Amino acid sequence: MANYVVGIAGGIGSGKTAVSDRFAGYGTVVVDADVASRDVVRPGEPGLAAIAERYGGAVINGNGELNRAALRERIFRDTEERRWVERLLHPAINRLIAERLAAATSAYALLVNPLMRARDARANRILVVDVSEEVQVARTTARDGVDEEQARAIIASQLPRKERLAFADDVIVNDGALADLDGPVRKLHAEYLELANGA
Ligand code: ATP
Repeated sequence: MANYVVGIAGGIGSGKTAVSDRFAGYGTVVVDADVASRDVVRPGEPGLAAIAERYGGAVINGNGELNRAALRERIFRDTEERRWVERLLHPAINRLIAERLAAATSAYALLVNPLMRARDARANRILVVDVSEEVQVARTTARDGVDEEQARAIIASQLPRKERLAFADDVIVNDGALADLDGPVRKLHAEYLELANGA
């Protein structure tokens, strides 16, 4: 079990995955909050059954999977329903993340949390992946097929860059080439190993 956890935060398209993939290359176990939030609504999970019971077949695809877009649309303007879904899923997501962190066999584990709005209490240290909004827009539109306006709206709905940087212990600026991430990750990995060994 990893006794040291490094949380990774960063806005949409900032490069959290590009960075965490490089840590994984050193054998570091990566736990992704986004993955956990999908896993708790897979077919067969109680979370999906409860959602299907409340909202009916309209939010379930033909293959029995959650239609995330349909659910989002259903609860988007309805605070009460949104809270209901959050109350249902958040404990399950947190449980799954805790299980995965506890099962991590590397010296330290990474917790990638795209929704981090304050220092994540599960992490001993916070690494922020930082890019300018222009770079975020360019990479998000290229990857997700959203237009610039949509990308800017998503960025505006997320934590402002300055507030995220305020709780960072470490920062990787990801405005260069992908290969430029190698050096900073190598250096931080060595630091995290030392911190984990001293913890
Ligand atoms: P999200 O939270 O939106 O899932 P993320 O923070 O995990 O995003 P990535 O998926 O790592 O971000 O990166 C976003 C996109 O930008 C990807 O298509 C990725 O390949 C690309 N990208 C990341 N870093 C760089 C870089 N330094 N140079 C060029 N492209 C990059």
